[in-house]
Amino acid sequence: MALRSIVVIPHEALNRKAKKINNIDDKIRLLAIDMAETMYKAPGVGLAANQVGELLRLIVVDVVYPYAEGKDKKKDPLVLINPEIVQSEGESVNEEGCLSVPDFGVEVTRAERCQVRCVDLEGNPLNIDAEGLLARALQHEIDHLNGLTILEHASFLKRDLYRRRLKKKTRRDR
Ligand code: ZN
Repeated sequence: MALRSIVVIPHEALNRKAKKINNIDDKIRLLAIDMAETMYKAPGVGLAANQVGELLRLIVVDVVYPYAEGKDKKKDPLVLINPEIVQSEGESVNEEGCLSVPDFGVEVTRAERCQVRCVDLEGNPLNIDAEGLLARALQHEIDHLNGLTILEHASFLKRDLYRRRLKKKTRRDR
């Protein structure tokens, strides 16, 4: 088990489509465990493989842990392989941030409820009916698998401003 480094904009893995996983082997199992640990450490409520530089359709999500207290606080990550949104309903607007887009927040319109089909780490088919924060987190992470970040949900102006700020910062850090 090891923590992975989270890549940030403009890393190319964040704008590329992840590949379907056909064989759940030890490498995939280890990646899932590492990604969960990395997500808890960050801390965040979700992480997509693209964010640790792996172009594979794998996400981990836990929207309960950060808000739980006492003996209810137990790490129980959802691991989704090849997740697909098969149905969505309603609309909700909320501010989102992303571990791969530091110091940036944007209001993103998402479906209020969605149904996600995937397989778990054992290869068993799984159907998840999600709403609220879980639905939002799943849509955010599946966006990552398709090479999209919250930057693509921002206005051109806001995005441009962020890229300029980023360039300035990189120049300063050199
Ligand atoms: Zn993200």
